[in-house]
Amino acid sequence: MYSKKLYGFIFLVGLSIFLMLENLYPHTSMASSLENNKTPILSQATVVAQNTSDFVLPPLTYDYDALEPYIDSQTMTFHHDKHHAGYVKNLNEAISPYPEFQGQTIEELLLNIDTLPEDIQTTVRNNGGGHSNHSIFWSIMTPDSEGEPTGELASTISRDFGDFAALKEEFNTAGKKQFGSGWAWLVMNDEGKLEIINTPNQDSPLLEGKYPIMGNDVWEHAYYLKYQNKRGDYLDAWWNVINWSEVNQRFLAAQDFIDQ
Ligand code: MN
Repeated sequence: MYSKKLYGFIFLVGLSIFLMLENLYPHTSMASSLENNKTPILSQATVVAQNTSDFVLPPLTYDYDALEPYIDSQTMTFHHDKHHAGYVKNLNEAISPYPEFQGQTIEELLLNIDTLPEDIQTTVRNNGGGHSNHSIFWSIMTPDSEGEPTGELASTISRDFGDFAALKEEFNTAGKKQFGSGWAWLVMNDEGKLEIINTPNQDSPLLEGKYPIMGNDVWEHAYYLKYQNKRGDYLDAWWNVINWSEVNQRFLAAQDFIDQ
């Protein structure tokens, strides 16, 4: 009689401790269990892949003024610390009521946007896209640009565009022709070919199954303080700060993505 009560008591204490710990660390177990189900290619995607339940603003790997005179310090500060930070905050707020999606990478969320609850699809498209696009953007810039494409990317540009000058011209035209806010992109399509596209707002090329290799932000917040209405001058100047070794890494990741 007493021992039954004692066992019951011990069981309840154990259960309470378990529930308390589960409550304290719910995301840890969720993230690690979902992480095991990830497809290998997505975990290879550079820079923007995150496995935690909360998305974080990636720090710049250079100073705010490092890209001057092409991109000014004030623009970099507001753009990174305010605009991008805002996308991350809104994305986390949208996902927080849905723990079943918290272990996914930003690429997974965007690639499978139709599977998300309807009430957060637009928020994830805009703010998740904003987070993904800007994470790529910071990573493919550097004060120590090599000046032109390197590695396997260089020969594939010749194959698909003729030469680097032709790619530049097509890319800048895509940036200039994007009406209102958006992005110009070098992407890999599902046939493994390089393509130039533009997207409105914060739409990621992943939404149309294309892998973003390199993108330039043509929202006015990206250039207006220095260039005002001269978007073309900003597009021309941007080629001076491209981190071509990182772009080549993204090109290699794009091939893995398409091959899977
Ligand atoms: Mn931006």
